[in-house]
Amino acid sequence: MNLQFLGTAASEGWPAPFCSCKYCEEARRLGGKNLRSRSQSIVDGRLLIDFPADTYWHSIRFGVHLEKVEHLLITHSHEDHLYPIGFINKVPPYAHGVSGDDMPPLHIYGNETVVGRIESAMRFNYGPGGDAVWQPYLKLHTIHPFGQFFAEGYSITPLPCNHMSTEQALIFLIEGGGKRLLYAHDTGPLLTETLSFLKGKKLDAATLDCTMGAGGLSTCHMDFQQDLDLRRWMLENGCADEKTVFVANHFSHNGTAVYDKMVEIAKGTGFLISYDGMSITF
Ligand SMILES: [Zn+2]
Ligand SMILES: [Zn+2]
Ligand SMILES: [Zn+2]
Repeated sequence: MNLQFLGTAASEGWPAPFCSCKYCEEARRLGGKNLRSRSQSIVDGRLLIDFPADTYWHSIRFGVHLEKVEHLLITHSHEDHLYPIGFINKVPPYAHGVSGDDMPPLHIYGNETVVGRIESAMRFNYGPGGDAVWQPYLKLHTIHPFGQFFAEGYSITPLPCNHMSTEQALIFLIEGGGKRLLYAHDTGPLLTETLSFLKGKKLDAATLDCTMGAGGLSTCHMDFQQDLDLRRWMLENGCADEKTVFVANHFSHNGTAVYDKMVEIAKGTGFLISYDGMSITF
C-alpha cells in the first residue's frame, strides 16, 4: 500500500495567509518542506482522502489525475478538509470525459454534515431544481462510526474521534491487499471506544494528528508528545510493532515547530514527519 501526503497543514496552511507570527515568517524564510498546504492524501494513487481548496494545486503539483479518482473519503466538514463548491469542477462543462461526457461518477463518503454541505453547495449553484445536472457525477454516501463499507477494493471502517462538538468527525481504518492503515486526522487523544476497536489489530502504518506539534496540549488535536504516547499504547496493545510506519501529520503554526525543527525533535522516536508530497510504501 502506498500513501502520498498531498497537503500537510491544518486549517490556515503554514504560513497562514494573514499571519505574521514568527513561525509563519520562519516558514516563509526557509521555504521547501516548511511550506504546508491544506490537508489531503491519496492511497495507491486512487483513493482520495479529503478535499480542501488546495486540491486543484495538489493535482497540478503532484500529477494527481483527479479525473480517474472514483472514490473520496471526507473526515469532517472543516474547510481544510472540505471545499464543497469545488465539486462543480467534476460536472460538465467544467469537466469532460475522453469521449464526450462519458465520465465515471465520483463517490463521496462523509458524515451527515459533509453530505449536507455538498448538497447545499450544489443547490446554491444549480438552483433547487437542478439536482439532475450534478447528481450523475457526484454520488454522496452518508457513513457512520463503525459502519464498515467497501470502496475501490478497500475495506474502510470510519471510527469516531474527539474533534468537534457540532458533528461526529471521523478517522479511518483502511484495509486492502493484506495491509492496514490508520488515518487519524483531525482528532484529539483517541476515544476509549476507538481504542477498544483497534486493540489487537496490527497496523502496517499509522498517520497521527500533530496539529499542536511542539506547542502544547489541546483536546481536539494532538501534539507530538501525545503521538509518542499513542504509539507506545499501540506497541503495548498489539496494534503495532517495530516495522509499523508512524507518521506525524497535519501541522499548524500554533504547534510552533516548522518541518526542519520537527525532524530534529522526532529523531530516534520512530516517527516520520510529513511534508507536502511525501510518499510512503508499506
Ligand atoms: Zn484539519
Ligand atoms: Zn502564523
Ligand atoms: Zn478539523
